[in-house]
Amino acid sequence: MNESLLSYREALRLIEDHLTPLPIRRINWRCSIGAALAEDVAAIENLPPFTNTSMDGYAVRSEDVQGASENRPVRLHVAEAIFAGDSPSRQTLQPGWAAKIMTGAPLPQGADAVIMVEYTKTHNDSVDIFSSAQPGENLRPEGEEIRRGDVLLPLGIAVGPVERGLLAQQGIREVSVRQPPRAALLATGDELVEPESEIVPGQIRNVNAYTLAAELERLRCPVADLGIGRDDPGALRDLIRRGVEEADLLIASGGVSAGERDFLPGLLRDMGMRTIFHKASVKPGKPILFGLLDERPIFGLPGNVVSVIASFHLFVKPSIKLMMGRKDWRNTTMFARMGQLVHNPGSRTHFMRCRLSHMPSGAPIAYPTGKQESGMLTSLLGADGFAVIPGDVDTVEEFTEVEFIPLRDDR
Ligand code: AMP
Ligand code: MG
Repeated sequence: MNESLLSYREALRLIEDHLTPLPIRRINWRCSIGAALAEDVAAIENLPPFTNTSMDGYAVRSEDVQGASENRPVRLHVAEAIFAGDSPSRQTLQPGWAAKIMTGAPLPQGADAVIMVEYTKTHNDSVDIFSSAQPGENLRPEGEEIRRGDVLLPLGIAVGPVERGLLAQQGIREVSVRQPPRAALLATGDELVEPESEIVPGQIRNVNAYTLAAELERLRCPVADLGIGRDDPGALRDLIRRGVEEADLLIASGGVSAGERDFLPGLLRDMGMRTIFHKASVKPGKPILFGLLDERPIFGLPGNVVSVIASFHLFVKPSIKLMMGRKDWRNTTMFARMGQLVHNPGSRTHFMRCRLSHMPSGAPIAYPTGKQESGMLTSLLGADGFAVIPGDVDTVEEFTEVEFIPLRDDR
């Protein structure tokens, strides 16, 4: 049969067109890791908040130390010592005077430069300065990094360590965000038992619920595990209902292909789901199903253990980020050279599991991780991502450049 299937790009476009962003909530900054900002966050203070020194040394008036050198030091009176944490000195530094000062301490009035301690020699209540200074030298001026009212963090980025650090630095207590969606997981199949179970021939252990839950944890999505659904429309219907009630999106695995007990596409349609697409021209993961039931996104991922992980990365992860209003929802891509000759028979885009290495020049090079069967989870062991072999390319010669989608982009 010669079907014309939706391309990966077209499928992503359909997802983008049909997902609605989650509601916005105001939350405490401490709990913001993993959430996406739903507003531009403006700085509420100048940074640095006051002009301070970036070096231990002596605060001076630069005109006083003009021409100072190793051989011709300038001697200044020492007024006081200022430490980090001291409030700004009330004394104005007078001509001919210096103040001892430590990194992070506020610069006294009148001073306009700091001489590093290495270029000074202290006497009882005076100091020899062995170097001249430009106005502003070794200073961190107020507002140098950011000014009150400037955009500190833009809308649509996820809060990570740096972003939370900036919120802490500014004393910003609340932010408007979209939090990671709650995901309901449903593993379907009469052959499935839970991992702790002994198995009899014919049975296998549920893997997908556990790989998916781990992927979701990385994105900080709360998970509602619906357990194992038998290949029975009545039982599946109840679980799907529960999933849609309890979660923002439902991810099912298994039962979306053309087998006689692959009930999900028909059942979901009967339950009122709007099918947005079923099947895409991708390998692995061709039978993927995406639709909306009560405006909740539903993903039916093909049950093979590799297909599940691949389709999670290719379709579900970008969808979760889109629901959060993240501007960086698309998977990161890079280029790599193929480490060996590979073939892509058939017409689907092959997302080939590969390990990345580096050529002597430092350029990335991708080596397939052995057998590429979509039922072999070991083919993902040690894989750094997917080399993308387009459907209309039959043979990729060694060292040919291909697109590469890393499995971890840490965002
Ligand atoms: P299906 O998509 O239901 O036709 O399943 C395809 C293959 O994946 C079959 O060999 C199933 O036994 C297997 N499979 C389905 N669900 C799971 C699961 N949760 N864990 C491990 N393997 C599964
Ligand atoms: Mg099945």
